[in-house]
Amino acid sequence: MRLNAKQIAACTGGQFLVEAIDPSALMTGVTWDSREMQPGWLYVALPGERVDGHDFVEAALRAGAAGALVMQSPGRAACLLAREMGAAVIEVANTASAVTDLARAWRGYLRGRVIALTGSVGKTTTKNLVRDVCAAYGSVVATRGNQNNELGVPRTLLAADPETAVVVVEMGMRGSGQIAELCDFVRPDWGLVTNVGESHIELLGSRENIARAKAELYAALPAGRGRAFLNLDGAYLDVLMEAGGLRERPMLLSGFAGNPDEDLREMLERDGTVCEEVVWAEDVALDGEGRARFALCARDHADHEEEALLAPVERCRCALTLTGAHNVDNAVAAASVGFALGLDLETIAAALGASVPEPGRQEVIAARGGFTIVNDAYNASPDSMRASLSTFAATEVAGRRIAVLGDMGELGDFAEACHRGVGAHAAALSLDRLVCVGALSSFIAEGARDAGMDAARISRAATVADVLEELDTLLEPGDAVLVKASHFMGLTRVVEGLVR
Ligand code: ATP
Ligand code: MG
Repeated sequence: MRLNAKQIAACTGGQFLVEAIDPSALMTGVTWDSREMQPGWLYVALPGERVDGHDFVEAALRAGAAGALVMQSPGRAACLLAREMGAAVIEVANTASAVTDLARAWRGYLRGRVIALTGSVGKTTTKNLVRDVCAAYGSVVATRGNQNNELGVPRTLLAADPETAVVVVEMGMRGSGQIAELCDFVRPDWGLVTNVGESHIELLGSRENIARAKAELYAALPAGRGRAFLNLDGAYLDVLMEAGGLRERPMLLSGFAGNPDEDLREMLERDGTVCEEVVWAEDVALDGEGRARFALCARDHADHEEEALLAPVERCRCALTLTGAHNVDNAVAAASVGFALGLDLETIAAALGASVPEPGRQEVIAARGGFTIVNDAYNASPDSMRASLSTFAATEVAGRRIAVLGDMGELGDFAEACHRGVGAHAAALSLDRLVCVGALSSFIAEGARDAGMDAARISRAATVADVLEELDTLLEPGDAVLVKASHFMGLTRVVEGLVR
């Protein structure tokens, strides 16, 4: 971001408590964490649950802040210090919404392409793959980690320069209207929905409503020059297209399919009825460590419209570092973005292959005890649980496969059925042991038992300490342990305990 004190006050509707010594001097960054403060940046005092950002205005100024946004006076000492340093103190009604105001104002200066993505699962992974593919095209700024909420999204825009070629924005949501709100200031040029699953079904009530909420991204794309990326073998494609207004507004359409059936594959090779550009995977296989290998295929129908001839299908081998067949879906999604940018398939495949997982997301750790940990404890939903378990079961292991699964949150009335479903899924896989942690996870245990898993191979644990105690006696060299649950379960502590 490069905005001066005058612009900042104007776009946030703020009043100066302390005037800047030079109101036209540009502030070159923004943070709400005083420990991250760089000289010349703007500090935003956010009221937190545990700490109040207003208590750190002085610290931010001492670290070189050129200005501070506050909701109330940060006190006499802080104002005196600001005056002494020539820094501005600007009071606004709500500092959190002021962050959005700043992003909205700064968006107007960005000349590159803004690509937003959302979906039930695979957002962060796909965002990282898109980021890595786009790096072969030009300069990229992408969402850091999983910062996909009403603060993380503006932060991503504010981190971009006017010259940045591509800005990749991950958008999370819990209910309807939230994606529309984010799009209102992000104004994405291109939009991608990874898939429609069951995450956050508690608030939305049905998968169709989830699809409608995701479609808000498509509906926000500019007619004519907007480009929508569609998961052609995903669920609720029709709802997404209809609710996103993709049929009635002129829009560029790109399609991707990680697992096309025969009919879809034939259609992708044959005609461009749904999308001008399509990217898909064929011959998917997992190697011994669960990494996916496939033929990356693409076809550009738009170029061949007049000839009424079949456009040639381009093909290229692709080998991912990421494990699991579900990552093929994420990879073809990212490839379709690269293809739309005009990159060739070899370049795209190389970038996809070099992309590595985020910590805590199917991160494979070799522990000192001679066993392997698959740390997927960062978060979980029914779809990601099933994907993760399938990947784990498909991986070659010298010893036994042990899955430690905890509760999944935000499922409301669907919680019991969703946990039972995960249990049934686990029972059908070659797992040697299932350890279920937490109250809801008793339904995973029951679901697995009902689906025929030997009860002697299923155990229940109430706490992280219980899990560690059980694993301590159980684990032998060569074994592999998958650890996965929703974030609130804190199962990263199981991983930490095992690594120690
Ligand atoms: P969050 O809601 O936490 O932001 P996310 O949508 O960003 O999640 P990721 O962090 O990319 O999703 O992946 C979370 C987990 O979901 C992964 O560890 C993996 O187990 C699973 N997953 C990722 N992609 C897919 C997919 N395409 N289909 C099914 N499961 C997936
Ligand atoms: Mg994410």
